[in-house]
Amino acid sequence: MKPLVVMKFGGTSVQDDVAIDRTASIVRGRVERGLQPIVVVSAMARVTDQLLAAAAAAGRGDRNGALAITGRLRNRHLETAGRLVTSSPASSQIHHAIDAEFVALDEILRGLAAVGELTPRISDMVVSYGERISSRIVTAAFADRGLDAAHIDARQCIVTDAQYGRAIPQDEHIEQRLHEHVLPLARQAKVCVMGGFIGSTLQGATTTLGRGGSDFTAALVGGGLEADAIEIWTDVNGIMTADPRVCPDALRVKSISFEEAAELAYFGAKVLHPATILPAVKKNIPVLVLNSHNPANEGTRITAVAPHCRSPFKSIAVKKRLTIIDVVAGRMLMSHGYLKAVFEIFDKHKCAVDMVSTSEVSVSLTVDSNERLPEIAADLSQIADVKYEGKKALVCLVGEDIRGHNGIAGRVFSAVRHVNLRMISQGASEINMSFMIEEDDVEEALRSLHAEFFADPDPEIFDVTEAAKSVAGS
Ligand code: ADP
Ligand code: ASP
Ligand code: MG
Repeated sequence: MKPLVVMKFGGTSVQDDVAIDRTASIVRGRVERGLQPIVVVSAMARVTDQLLAAAAAAGRGDRNGALAITGRLRNRHLETAGRLVTSSPASSQIHHAIDAEFVALDEILRGLAAVGELTPRISDMVVSYGERISSRIVTAAFADRGLDAAHIDARQCIVTDAQYGRAIPQDEHIEQRLHEHVLPLARQAKVCVMGGFIGSTLQGATTTLGRGGSDFTAALVGGGLEADAIEIWTDVNGIMTADPRVCPDALRVKSISFEEAAELAYFGAKVLHPATILPAVKKNIPVLVLNSHNPANEGTRITAVAPHCRSPFKSIAVKKRLTIIDVVAGRMLMSHGYLKAVFEIFDKHKCAVDMVSTSEVSVSLTVDSNERLPEIAADLSQIADVKYEGKKALVCLVGEDIRGHNGIAGRVFSAVRHVNLRMISQGASEINMSFMIEEDDVEEALRSLHAEFFADPDPEIFDVTEAAKSVAGS
């Protein structure tokens, strides 16, 4: 069989007919190069948010509000499909397929509004329609453009546990299902198209892998089928030295290690979902991040070992909307077992902690979800004085070459000397340095750090040409 390449297209790469048309050309390009693509698509841009809003409205009993959202989504999907698929009978087939999905979705929302209680299971069921429908439209568009495309319902292959909203994939089942449902079609040179993000339990309940999870699906498919490469097609030229939306001078990073990419993803670089990296690392499959708006660009290659870089950092990630919780032990001081008691409270509320710093009498922790904050604070106040402050941001500088450099901390802190820093930490992995600041200071801090560390970029690692500075689509 030809070399397998898993190609994942994010929301902006399938956001309308123009984007889907471009996606079809990119896939055709791979076929013409003698590769066998398997395509994973996200929901069209912003659809997941809108479906979540519809579910929330129905959960509050606002039936009409929910149906108004799906009415608009229905029109958007039908119009996009109508512009993409013009031949008959394909155009009426896709129209009916989309219609049937929306009829089923509206039925769920009506039931939900009647019951008035949104469970994580129903939420996953509702939100799954984004990828279910986008993958159908993309398959029909590919077929209309002469590609031998076959639609796969991702829920047949991506078997997960029942942790709705953040389900854990079951690798062995996935591998077996992919071999059963996808590989035979790929062997017949069919271009399989499936939705990312969604899965199903062994009992058949629909699940999702967490926000941004289509990257994860691509890695699961690539890992399960031992693909030759995984391509993450998005709206920027690759992994950049900073989010180009915040830092217009950001440069493309040509090559980065798995470990660095995972660290960046974890600390907020939205371009790649943190969990993406694992299935690919295990099988040593190269991952490329590419721009569907600018397919000629080489993108970023993520490999097991990154080449040496002259500068200490490869990129700076920022995670906003964090809350710092200060837990002050008061007269108890930090006795034996105290930290355990603190962490048990976070564990009880299933709240992940991003960063921790301790002093003799206090512990500061950061969390990215405010959902359970009042309950957590109430429990903590049984053993300590508690304060929490929102609107904080974590800035994280990542690079394997921090190791060989002295005096890095001094350079970092002098670059951001005008900004009030809190909770400074050098990660145990020794490839990141991070600190917390006010959200309002993010732009200034990022610009100063970028100027300090990327003014003289290593041309082996960074794209120093002028073109690299342009953000997607421009
Ligand atoms: P997709 O819908 O294709 O999955 P995402 O919106 O999830 O795309 O991720 C792409 C976005 O990630 C970019 O538009 C960019 O604003 C953001 N981003 C954040 N940090 C970085 C970074 N270091 N390099 C590139 N993009 C980044
Ligand atoms: N559509 C999902 C989301 O918006 C998954 C993804 O796009 O990766 O989170
Ligand atoms: Mg994404």
